[in-house]
Amino acid sequence: MINKILLPYPVDALEPYYNKETLVLHYDILYTGYIDNTNKTEEKLNIARKENDLKNIKCLEKDLSFFGSGVILHELFFQNMGIPIPTTPNAQLMEQINIDFGSYENFKNQFTESSKVVEASGWNLLVWVPRFNKLEILQCEKHQNLTLWGCIPLLVLDMWEHSYYLQYKTKRGDYINAFWNIVNWNEVNKRWDKVVG
Ligand code: MN
Repeated sequence: MINKILLPYPVDALEPYYNKETLVLHYDILYTGYIDNTNKTEEKLNIARKENDLKNIKCLEKDLSFFGSGVILHELFFQNMGIPIPTTPNAQLMEQINIDFGSYENFKNQFTESSKVVEASGWNLLVWVPRFNKLEILQCEKHQNLTLWGCIPLLVLDMWEHSYYLQYKTKRGDYINAFWNIVNWNEVNKRWDKVVG
């Protein structure tokens, strides 16, 4: 059984870049739904195992991947945003960004452009790939497709329409540009420190 995390800021803290109405719906309804559905799926899996009734196992395992990844990505997303004060990657992360993308501007440009072209409902992620020993940017479809196994998400952006449509309508680019104002690099730096620590 998993429980909801609390938002690390008041619901109007990301204004004007991410409005209260969008955040409340996103957190109270959508994120809560992923928590509930993950718990329900785990319960069904427990029953299936207990009763040795595996006829729905394909569906249940797929549900676990979808709902569970929905939980994980939303928590990373909510936590890697913050009040609009400037924060930056720490020295070590900036060094790695420079190695793998050439410059911070190049990284930001790739992340912006790839966010714009996420297909249908999905995400965009800056990840550390241990096997390749490098940072990569990955688009994600739904919550669980198109990953590299073992990668560690550092910065995630929700590109599902529910994340921007109320405020930005079809202007995906405006939403992504606004997002850069509320990225909480202090949180991303913590994730990075765990990678290198
Ligand atoms: Mn979402």
